[in-house]
Amino acid sequence: MMEDFVTFTIPKQKTIALIAHDGKKQELIDWCAENQEILRNHFLCGTGTTARLVAERTGLPVKAYNSGPLGGDQQIGAKIVEGKINFIIFFSDPLEAQPHDPDVKALLRIAQVYDIPMANNKATADFLIRSSLMNQEYDHKVINFNKKISERVSRING
Ligand code: PGA
Repeated sequence: MMEDFVTFTIPKQKTIALIAHDGKKQELIDWCAENQEILRNHFLCGTGTTARLVAERTGLPVKAYNSGPLGGDQQIGAKIVEGKINFIIFFSDPLEAQPHDPDVKALLRIAQVYDIPMANNKATADFLIRSSLMNQEYDHKVINFNKKISERVSRING
């Protein structure tokens, strides 16, 4: 019998994705500057424009994916599925419509499926970054996709 869930480990040194909509970019840059001593202990990446701005303004190394509206959120979602990104700081703008809203929703959803810690505003980011779990491994249970696939295949095969 396969288990419903498998245990994944978020390592001590996390891979943190940074994303901010235009109206929130300055807030995220300021937050990264305030927390750069902590952020320096982890690997940083982000959507294209956000990654470039954070790197330029803080000096932190940030690997850049494509710009959000051009697929960057989807690239980050794919890395979550692959287990390569395990923490997200996403300052989305609740007051501005986004052309890539379906991609944003997809990223929120996939982060939930894979039980990824995700801050959508500064207060949550402040609480997360000060958590003692930032300095240790964290085991969590993620849905067993092998079992899911087997169940779906047997259902369709009848
Ligand atoms: P950007 O993308 O960092 O390239 O601006 C962020 C977003 O809008 O999702």
